Amino acid sequence: MVVDVQSKILPGVTHWQSPNFYAYYPANSSVAGFLGEILSAGINMVGFSWITSPAATELEMIVLDWLGKLLKLPQEFLSSGHGGGVIQGSASEAVLVVLLAARDKTLRMVGKSALGKLVVYGSDQTHSALQKACQIAGIHPENCRLLKTDSSTDYALSPEIVSEAISHDISIGLIPFFLCGTVGTTSSATVDPLYSLAKIAKSNGMWFHVDAAYAGSACICPEYRKYLDGVEEADSFNMNAHKWFLTNFDCSALWVKDRNALIQSLSTNPEFLKNKASQANLVVDYKDWQIPLGRRFRSLKLWMVLRLYGVENLQNYLRNHIELARYFQVCVGQDPRFEIVAPRKFSLVCFRLLPPVDDNETRGSNKLNQDLLEAVNSTGRVFITHTALSGMYTLRLVVGAPLTERRHIDAAWKVLQDEAFTLLCSPLQENGNLPKSPPPIGFFGNGFKAEPLPQK
Ligand code: PLP
Repeated sequence: MVVDVQSKILPGVTHWQSPNFYAYYPANSSVAGFLGEILSAGINMVGFSWITSPAATELEMIVLDWLGKLLKLPQEFLSSGHGGGVIQGSASEAVLVVLLAARDKTLRMVGKSALGKLVVYGSDQTHSALQKACQIAGIHPENCRLLKTDSSTDYALSPEIVSEAISHDISIGLIPFFLCGTVGTTSSATVDPLYSLAKIAKSNGMWFHVDAAYAGSACICPEYRKYLDGVEEADSFNMNAHKWFLTNFDCSALWVKDRNALIQSLSTNPEFLKNKASQANLVVDYKDWQIPLGRRFRSLKLWMVLRLYGVENLQNYLRNHIELARYFQVCVGQDPRFEIVAPRKFSLVCFRLLPPVDDNETRGSNKLNQDLLEAVNSTGRVFITHTALSGMYTLRLVVGAPLTERRHIDAAWKVLQDEAFTLLCSPLQENGNLPKSPPPIGFFGNGFKAEPLPQK
């Protein structure tokens, strides 16, 4: 079996826990998260209703209240009031369930036949999970407005553009009902202006959801909490503890102010699940806050992460990654062959290799950066991914793996520089104008050698 795992499975595994993994957004594992997973697997209960394992429901309420307080979410999001937190499997499920709640809330007011008139708003930087949620919720694809952003707002959603779109839709008889803002977009980790967006949503009777799947974690640090300002006006808020919070996948924390809105959309009450506690409305039954019936004991791993590491260690963990990203940004900024494409707020750096001076045509420079990405990843020493910003093929390097240290960033930068050198030189080499090998180590970079991926 061990031999088969080594020979048949591991060669096909992408090492998300490698310190050289800088792709997408991270998916942290940790000893605490791992222990929580083991305990959950051993207990293996299915906690859909309170009565099916009271500890599972109650721990989830407690732990999400703790995390909500760490993020300084308003009191209405905590379980003591009409709202509360729930662990979903993913940010995609989170946006889907709140979209369903918002849709049904609106349809109760305007009548079910108005479904075709309902309109959803986000930006062209909002995660595609919103679009998928619309598809599932029966929102007409042409009523899902992904409003354009550009570099003038650092790719954040402009409140003026949102207001204009809403006014126009109302004037042609449509019904705006849902607005999604993002803290830490997937492409460039920009932050939408939550307060202004919330105001627009409120004045139009719309549900305002905040997706902070990646960057929400950083907001437990007082110096980054400002990026959540305005969340107090939101109807729902989501962050993925399974991304950058040392909690093994999956663990997506969703808070709502009005739990009844979720329950009205998602509850079922078959005879075979009836019990006194539920009938008396004395308990939370999380089956009514999510799509599936069954659910795992996911709060155990978040509980262990919070208890074993503590707030200060978690804050320092996040700060360290942000500092490493800042360091990488400085390296890129000091090399005139590269440019930083979008401002960095957290641990994501967006950058690109500039084409030779006489070749500034976008298609050529996109191809150059695509070639660089492929060359860098083909070394097997680092893994980065890309996005498009204003039509520009943009490289993304995210610091977020638990084992990444400064020497790994140095090594990654060295790989990037070497491969860039090779690419930039190759057309000239063909003409016999340039040396055939990169300059000695230390010429562009600092001389650290990349480490191979762990062999274990
Ligand atoms: N929202 C944002 C901002 C993301 O960056 C991502 C994934 O990276 C998602 C949503 C989707 O997350 P999930 O895989 O948990 O559905």
